[in-house]
Amino acid sequence: MATVRDTSTPRPPAGRFDLAVVGAGIVGLATALAGARRRLRIVVIDRDASANGASVRNFGFVTVTGQAAGAMWARARRSHDVWREVAAAAGIPIVQTGVWMTARRAESVAVLESFMQTDMAAGCSLLTAAEARRRCPPLAAPDLLAVLESTIELRVESREAVPQLAAWLAGAHGVAFMRATAVTAIDPPRLETSRGLVEADRVAVCPGDDYRGLYPERLAAYALTRCKLQMLRLADPGFTLPGTLMSDLGLGRYPGFTALPAAAALKARLAAEQPEQVRHGVHLIVAQSADGSLVAGDSHQYAPIPDPHRSREVDDLILDEFRAALGIEPPPAIDRWIGTYASADDRPVLIDAPESSVRIAIVTSGSGASTAFAIGEEVIASLFGPEPTGPLRRRPPTGRRRQT
Ligand SMILES: Cc1cc2nc3c(=O)[nH]c(=O)nc-3n(C[C@H](O)[C@H](O)[C@H](O)COP(=O)(O)OP(=O)(O)OC[C@H]3O[C@@H](n4cnc5c(N)ncnc54)[C@H](O)[C@@H]3O)c2cc1C
Repeated sequence: MATVRDTSTPRPPAGRFDLAVVGAGIVGLATALAGARRRLRIVVIDRDASANGASVRNFGFVTVTGQAAGAMWARARRSHDVWREVAAAAGIPIVQTGVWMTARRAESVAVLESFMQTDMAAGCSLLTAAEARRRCPPLAAPDLLAVLESTIELRVESREAVPQLAAWLAGAHGVAFMRATAVTAIDPPRLETSRGLVEADRVAVCPGDDYRGLYPERLAAYALTRCKLQMLRLADPGFTLPGTLMSDLGLGRYPGFTALPAAAALKARLAAEQPEQVRHGVHLIVAQSADGSLVAGDSHQYAPIPDPHRSREVDDLILDEFRAALGIEPPPAIDRWIGTYASADDRPVLIDAPESSVRIAIVTSGSGASTAFAIGEEVIASLFGPEPTGPLRRRPPTGRRRQT
């Protein structure tokens, strides 16, 4: 696994930075990347010694199909392109491509057919059940009716990709990292941290679901809450999935589908037939790792302080949907974990300006892996003014750069 150079031990790096980024999750790293493209002098500060937030607990599923039409879909398209570019440059393996949205109900097929009429269906095709079985014979659900295949999606192994991305930002772009360092107050250009003062002209606060630490009064106005998800890793089933798999429940949750008029009938049927899954926000994503194992989930429990325990019942509901959608017995669970992200009812992303030189960026929906690179560019444009994006430029390591 990649290691990140901690430039701060025992004191903060000398000199004043152009930009300080609080939070080394995917949103903070994406913001640092957008700043690095402009050759800014950047420090990323995170309270944890190594990545531990939503960004390393997720599926690593960079999804475009199913994002809300408009800004989120455009952000996902842009972020997908940056992921491809960065993965190649940083040596991050893309472990899976494409998504198969499987449909076992006539109402789901209607949603897929309706989706195919939209601009967002570029790169998608609708497979019959027979075509799908020919492509992936183990997909044996007897009631499978159709599959929407999209080829644009990609998947990285987040628990490795996020540290690799940070290491590449440090090594190739001279971004300084201060790990195990909490930012306790911001009064630009001064940031108070648990390791002393850091100076930066501008600050991007990317705290994930820790929205009660910095600018708590400001963020209270957004009525944020947190969403807890349950995840499982299942043993290698012995065959290769044609892409990340989803099911009817996903068509009833993802905004790019639920906004279609045809989704109303599907949602009503799901509520009647699978009330427990709907109640726990269960929908199925099954992604495959390089070693063949499957990452399967998930569920959605919304609360400011989510119950810290796993629910066996919720795991069973996820596995029931696996059984139904794939038509096979789930392989044994070899790992189980939970993750949380920030959530808001009225927006998928929050970008706020508490001060002229400070931006707060929080993804308030479960889509940060898919949209962060575009959000980082928005944050940098908001702080430093618009600049056309271009190819990545290398900059010399921190020690050889200008000190202000
Ligand atoms: C189980 C799960 C599955 C998901 N699946 C997907 C998926 O497949 N596709 C997708 O697009 N999205 C997915 N998501 C959502 C996605 O993971 C998040 O939207 C994204 O990771 C949020 O990134 P972040 O950088 O904002 O937060 P985080 O990764 O939580 O990082 C925030 C960082 O800020 C640091 N921090 C906070 N306050 C301070 C402070 N005061 N001082 C110093 N450091 C601070 C924290 O230590 C933390 O490291 C999933 C989320 C979960 C939990």
